[in-house]
Amino acid sequence: MKNPASFCISIDCELAWGVSDKISNKFIKKTIELDEKICFNLLTIFNEFDVSATWAIVAAMLDNNNPMINISHSSAWYNPKIIEKIKYSKTYQELASHSYSHPNFIQYDAKYIDEDFQKAEYFFSKNDINIKSFVFPRNQIQYLNLLNKHGIKIFRSLDKSMYKKVYKYNKVLGKFANLLDKSLPISANTVFPKITDHNLTELQSSLLFISRYSYKKIISEFSIFSKAKQGIDKAIKNKECFHLWFHPSNFYYNTERQFILLKKILAYVNLKRKSGLITVNTLDKYII
Ligand SMILES: [Zn+2]
Repeated sequence: MKNPASFCISIDCELAWGVSDKISNKFIKKTIELDEKICFNLLTIFNEFDVSATWAIVAAMLDNNNPMINISHSSAWYNPKIIEKIKYSKTYQELASHSYSHPNFIQYDAKYIDEDFQKAEYFFSKNDINIKSFVFPRNQIQYLNLLNKHGIKIFRSLDKSMYKKVYKYNKVLGKFANLLDKSLPISANTVFPKITDHNLTELQSSLLFISRYSYKKIISEFSIFSKAKQGIDKAIKNKECFHLWFHPSNFYYNTERQFILLKKILAYVNLKRKSGLITVNTLDKYII
């Protein structure tokens, strides 16, 4: 599906599961206080702008007996209400998988990951959710054979921006390069779906809608908007896809301003959409 140009959003919807291996009380507090509200607010915005997004959810959020509930406040680990609301949203939203319990795929053996898939499948089917798309925990791409075995057709991979290449060599420099990359109002990459091993489709991301926290505050809203706007224009020109991604936690700081910035991007997409130049797709629409 190379034609026409498209815009796509994928969201890693995980409460505190993304940090379950290094729990910070500060983060848990934010999750309890804000995560549900942010998800609901995002849905309101998507309805207002008629935008369908892909929500990659951690299936343990549907399990009222999941292993983290007794470790800290249960609402940081279990919240079927969010998933229910996504499922029944006025504007269609795709539900995708972000695994059962967010294990780091690089650190676990195939047996463990296979069991994680089985648990996720159990909770998805119990809740009548049909999954085609997958987002790897921590974007650690591994075990494509297991994705295929468990009926997944497409997955997200990370964009190969300059800063990641630098990061591979030197973490401090990588952080700096990330900052530089995000600070400069230059276009993010556009992407297109590719068929890969095990009969899967891979779609890279274009841009992370970055948090407004600590050193990242240096990155101006102007620069982020500019990157997105130019990315959308580039997608139209190249007839490719501009793929934005984030976690609800990317809205934990400067929440209202982050919503305004997201709305500004969606308003620009809609302007182009009105002229028939771009469509808005969920991840499953890219399956080859
Ligand atoms: Zn995650």
